[in-house]
Amino acid sequence: MTFTAIGPRVLLRRLREVMAEQGTAQEKLDHIAHLVAANVVAEVCSIYVLNDEGELELYATEGLKPESVHRVRLRPGEGLVGTIAETAETLNLSDAQAHPAFKYFPETGEEIYASFLGVPILRGGRVTGVLTVQNRRPRHYTEEEEEALQTTAMVLAEFFASPEFRAEYERRGERRSRRLHLRGEALHPGVALGHVVLHQPRVVIRNFVADNIETEIERLHEALQTLRTQVNDLIATTGLAAHGEHAEIFETVRMFAHDRGWVRRIEEGIRRGLSAEAAVERVQSDNRARMLRQTDPYMRERMHDLDDLANRLLRILTGQVGTAAQGKLPKDAVIVARNMGPAELLDYDRERLRGLVLEEGGTGSHVAIVARALEVPTIGQVEGITDLVENGDAIILDGRTGDVHVRPTPEIEQAYVEKVRLYARRQERFARLRHKPAITQDGVRVSLNINAGLLVDLPHLEDSGADGIGLYRTELQFMLTRTLPRREEQEKHYRAVLEAAGDKPVVFRTLDVGSDKVLPYMQTEREENPAMGWRALRMGLDRPGLLKMQLRALLAAASGRVLNVMFPMVTDVGEFLAARSYVVQQIEAMRKTNRALPKRVRIGAMVEVPALFFQLDELLRHADFISVGSNDLHQFLFAADRTHPRMAHRYDPLHPAMIRLLDQMAKKTRARGVPLSLCGEMAGNPLDAMILIALGFTSLSMAPAAIGPVKAMVRSLNRADLARRIPVWLAEGRESLRERAAIYAREHGVVLYSR
Ligand code: PEP
Ligand code: MG
Repeated sequence: MTFTAIGPRVLLRRLREVMAEQGTAQEKLDHIAHLVAANVVAEVCSIYVLNDEGELELYATEGLKPESVHRVRLRPGEGLVGTIAETAETLNLSDAQAHPAFKYFPETGEEIYASFLGVPILRGGRVTGVLTVQNRRPRHYTEEEEEALQTTAMVLAEFFASPEFRAEYERRGERRSRRLHLRGEALHPGVALGHVVLHQPRVVIRNFVADNIETEIERLHEALQTLRTQVNDLIATTGLAAHGEHAEIFETVRMFAHDRGWVRRIEEGIRRGLSAEAAVERVQSDNRARMLRQTDPYMRERMHDLDDLANRLLRILTGQVGTAAQGKLPKDAVIVARNMGPAELLDYDRERLRGLVLEEGGTGSHVAIVARALEVPTIGQVEGITDLVENGDAIILDGRTGDVHVRPTPEIEQAYVEKVRLYARRQERFARLRHKPAITQDGVRVSLNINAGLLVDLPHLEDSGADGIGLYRTELQFMLTRTLPRREEQEKHYRAVLEAAGDKPVVFRTLDVGSDKVLPYMQTEREENPAMGWRALRMGLDRPGLLKMQLRALLAAASGRVLNVMFPMVTDVGEFLAARSYVVQQIEAMRKTNRALPKRVRIGAMVEVPALFFQLDELLRHADFISVGSNDLHQFLFAADRTHPRMAHRYDPLHPAMIRLLDQMAKKTRARGVPLSLCGEMAGNPLDAMILIALGFTSLSMAPAAIGPVKAMVRSLNRADLARRIPVWLAEGRESLRERAAIYAREHGVVLYSR
């Protein structure tokens, strides 16, 4: 007996006929199982669907016991089918039972089958099911047969995502499929209850089969032409091409758009009988599956670029365009996206935006920075969510814990409604504190300021009742644009900040780029330890052109006002003096050309590197003010990467080593009369802030949402009383002061809200 599959085009045509039949989704799947078994001349063909519980559910079979349908459920990794789902790779075995992953499921009656061929059903690079065939006799399946299964798998993938299948699936699983509990990385706190809006509405492929191969090839090439024009326009309007040093990015994007290998693979798909869009989708699926397995971040980025291009191409071919921001949003939109650019988030109507859930997106990602500025509860790293939800699904997210509930039960919903109510009551309490001063019980006035970096942050200055902006991270403007902002643009931005702040002081920090803050248009070398590498002021001093341009923009923007400017990552006093001399130089230059100048310029240094602490006496002779960047200081003092999850709670900021350092810093600066503040995360944690105030810090800068909780703490604290305890605690034990501090707060009525 010879085993030859019918040609792929004929198979596709038959599949299309099945899809067009009257009948339920289940009937269609049964029919497909039958068709594939006949086509590959196999005794068994089975279709497994990855259900909402993450199990591979046997959905249809030709050959296995009919009663096992919907009963047999495997976990990814379990048995051969589970292995295919886990690895997203085909298994072609003439002796299946000899495979180490083989597992026998008595309810199927499959023990009599020797050979096995299974392929993953992939959509958007993710496994959504598995398709298998089996034969009694040991045999090897040919490449054509593998091909036939892959083609069928592609059609099935689209079918699983179709409203027809989903509706039936929902009805079947009714209660089971209603809820879904996922977890991710909490990026911005707050609870959101709302409805799913998919950021990029899925491209729906309606036509899989090429009626005429030549026409499809032509359609592909026309679409590619449009794509190339779009890419060239994009590059031209963003100015990428204008800068010689950015040629690399430009070339990568263009290279993909002209990549012969990519185009050839799509053409091959068409020649096998797929429509142009189905062929693009098929190649894109493979690419995505590889991308998800790719661990090298550089390669992942490149594959992302290709994925974006393929998406564009699909949209051109199907005529489906745009993101959900252009459409009508529900009042309680929770945007769900694989990933998005920062500007795309700003396109959404903030009034209707309740929350954001991303499959990718870590703490440092640009979209997360914007989400924080907009105060949108956000969760990142939620694996597979875009494939698990549909537009309009009810969804709840808790941006403090990283929990996401899709189609929640009424009980869960009720619990979260309570949480929101509690949160709102708390906000009201903070709002009442807004106009009250931050003064301790024993009369110490503490200045509470906000950290900011975007124009959308500015309204928080007013609504939080903060005293000023203690840290303006100027690099954010640079990170959100595609090209280096020109001096006039920088000046305009700084002027807008100062105008919004009115009489309240603003401390501008010069560019702190490098490390995890990468500017897409600035080429830097890859570094082993970027946090300790060429970043911040180091870069500024080596490339004074950039630093001078920024200083000039700041000086011009602050004409007639006070300008506070500080330098990040100062390590050696000499660096501070060099930076300071640039300010003086720019002032001189502006004076010569009769430019309006600030009425006063104060120049400060951030203390973030332990070495600078040991040069404090010298530094205090030259700096007008000092601000402790406790995030970096902690990272370098304890040699613990601030972005490493395992390091996150390893060394407490209230560890005696940190406390002793901060204590001496407060004493020395006070003795010299130099203003001191602290602008790292510690400042926004009420318990940490309580200790800082006891040490003598009277100015703190924090996220706007922390102002209320910290002010409530300040107003209930007797500073002098706590200050007396700290030396005793330090002398008594070697562990963190956290526990003692918490007990103290409890026993002395210090109000501690968590954020
Ligand atoms: C810090 O390091 O504490 C700080 C405020 O700066 P950034 O978090 O921007 O590095
Ligand atoms: Mg820092």
